[in-house]
Amino acid sequence: MIVIMNQNAGQEQVDSLISLLQDSGFGVHLSRGVERTVVGVIGERTRMEKLALDARAGVDRVLPVSEPYKLASRTFKPEDTVVQVRDLKIGRDNILVMAGPCAVESREQILASARAVKNAGAGVLRGGAFKPRTSPYSFQGLKQEGMELLEEASRETGLPVVTEVMDSSTLPLVARHADILQIGARNMQNFSLLSEVANAGKPVLLKRSPCAAIEEWLLAAEYILKEGNGQVILCERGIKTFEKFTRNTLDLTAVPVLKHLTHLPVVVDPSHAIGKWRYIRPMSRAAIAAGADGLLIEVHPEPDKALSDGPQSLTPENFQAVMQDVTRTALDMHKVVGSVS
Ligand code: PEP
Ligand code: MN
Repeated sequence: MIVIMNQNAGQEQVDSLISLLQDSGFGVHLSRGVERTVVGVIGERTRMEKLALDARAGVDRVLPVSEPYKLASRTFKPEDTVVQVRDLKIGRDNILVMAGPCAVESREQILASARAVKNAGAGVLRGGAFKPRTSPYSFQGLKQEGMELLEEASRETGLPVVTEVMDSSTLPLVARHADILQIGARNMQNFSLLSEVANAGKPVLLKRSPCAAIEEWLLAAEYILKEGNGQVILCERGIKTFEKFTRNTLDLTAVPVLKHLTHLPVVVDPSHAIGKWRYIRPMSRAAIAAGADGLLIEVHPEPDKALSDGPQSLTPENFQAVMQDVTRTALDMHKVVGSVS
């Protein structure tokens, strides 16, 4: 249920309602919009009805949230969420491009990547230190050393870092070094990990499982929101279809659908969706034109020598061309592409 407060409801009235709900054992989530303050209440409906919330001071209306995902819905929060990463913003009119190699491979490689993506105008450095590989015989990442190298690259360039958390045992290490915690496609429905990551107090980039319906994806986001962490970014990275020419199928329809259903920012990862560098540029443009709030793109100084995902990695020159396209498209849409100057 959501409780919509009167426009002139005072802070004491909001506080006293929250205390009443918490003392009665309900989960409470506050959303303060420009137009209205909404209190989301999670708990058993019949017990809630006994509290006669609509008769309480400062309350305008009490409404059920019909969607299965509650806190992620626009019913709970009509305004776009803006996620803040250091001095950068993503969401509403702010577009953020995150770029870098699939995996951190060496000091030289990550520093060269970070300099290249910063130079081209990316706002965030990506790079995996813990890699979820299909084959156990493939390169698994540099792990702790990789995290330290990411931090060094971040220090030198000023770029915040997004990197994947694969499990709870490595969460403290990753959370210490990263600015945004990435939940990979394979872990989208690892519910205990979602709750733990939420409590690390950092923004979370939640990738879509290649087999997840939009509703399942939003329910996964709900696990993070429910812990009180509202800084969630959704990332479309392609779904499984019968098509074999591309690695996955980029579901761009998810972008306008999500913008309608949820207030959370939505980014697109064309690299893992398509799997071939040649098609990344047009689909990046298309993602921004469809209303995405950002992109996650793999860039490698020497894609031919990459230890993972070389065929889908852009050279720094090709990434520069993508950034030019994205900036132009964003300007047409009266949006701003964020980067550290
Ligand atoms: C990644 O971004 O490094 C990655 C492994 O992607 P996904 O989880 O989408 O496969
Ligand atoms: Mn990759």
